[in-house]
Amino acid sequence: MSLGSIAGAAAMGHKGWVTARCHICNKKLDLTKDTVYYCPKCHTKGYRIFYCVADAKRLHYKCPFDGVELKIY
Ligand SMILES: [Zn+2]
Ligand SMILES: [Zn+2]
Repeated sequence: MSLGSIAGAAAMGHKGWVTARCHICNKKLDLTKDTVYYCPKCHTKGYRIFYCVADAKRLHYKCPFDGVELKIY
């Protein structure tokens, strides 16, 4: 009887602060390189919601939740 080694589960990256996903299309966004839009109001409420350039344009640069103008992160 052998106990297998417990692999995995350890290596979660520490890059949560520089990468995000577009809330609309789920595209991966690099906060340090890409132009990323966010709603300042949602962020003050604690929602880390981001939008890619294409979707920000499609939303007419307005937050779909509260209509606040999106800002470049
Ligand atoms: Zn998008
Ligand atoms: Zn908002």
